[in-house]
Amino acid sequence: MVIILSFLVLHWYASAFAQSFFLHRYTSHRQFTMNSFWEKFFYLFTFFAQGSSFLHPKSYALLHLQHHTHSDTEEDPHSPHFFKDVMQMMLNTRKIYMEYRRGERTGPNAFADSMPTWDFIDRLGNSSFTRVGFVLLYTWFYFQFAPSIWWFLLLPVHAAMGPLHGAFINWCGHKYGYRNFDMADESRNTFLFDLFFVGECFQNNHHKYPKRANFAVKWFEFDPVYPVMKLLNFSRIIRLKADPIR
Ligand SMILES: [Zn+2]
Ligand SMILES: [Zn+2]
Repeated sequence: MVIILSFLVLHWYASAFAQSFFLHRYTSHRQFTMNSFWEKFFYLFTFFAQGSSFLHPKSYALLHLQHHTHSDTEEDPHSPHFFKDVMQMMLNTRKIYMEYRRGERTGPNAFADSMPTWDFIDRLGNSSFTRVGFVLLYTWFYFQFAPSIWWFLLLPVHAAMGPLHGAFINWCGHKYGYRNFDMADESRNTFLFDLFFVGECFQNNHHKYPKRANFAVKWFEFDPVYPVMKLLNFSRIIRLKADPIR
């Protein structure tokens, strides 16, 4: 039981960190820079951490920047105010993500050409064989260590980890919680300590300052990825940009 729970927690946080740190804060918003070695390292980390639900970084970033430009309007790919339930919202998100992935849609974004890409990993990560392979690997692990068959009910969480995190953040981050800033959109801060979604639920703070590495703004808020970024900055692995509100 301890091994299965440890695996679930490890996979949850590795996937959430990859999405927040590499896809969101780096690829989409350029909150920091890093050299090509570390960029490749975190690209590979994202591939293994997201596994069966790997998201193509550039398509993710273009989709996400569309969300920022058109937040909570009809052009927003995943505003909870335009869909009757979370499933409809995620199906629309997937549709628009695939349009970016196939090059049928181009984003309103000056950085698009300089976003990180790695053709080999992109093709590997997006192939059905790889996705099924990862699911088989998770299933094998459960066969080895699950104390009973009921634990296998957790397998869909592993298989769809990336979209699951996205669904919660996009739905709750623009629907429930408090606001520090009066914005034109419906963005909210869902938690005071965003421990499960590694800071991503501070949507109101983030929409106000998209370039700011620390998603927490008030003294009582805590973004758990920010101390990690400070440590990586101190170790010269990344270089944080100046904080826009200090
Ligand atoms: Zn948002
Ligand atoms: Zn963002």
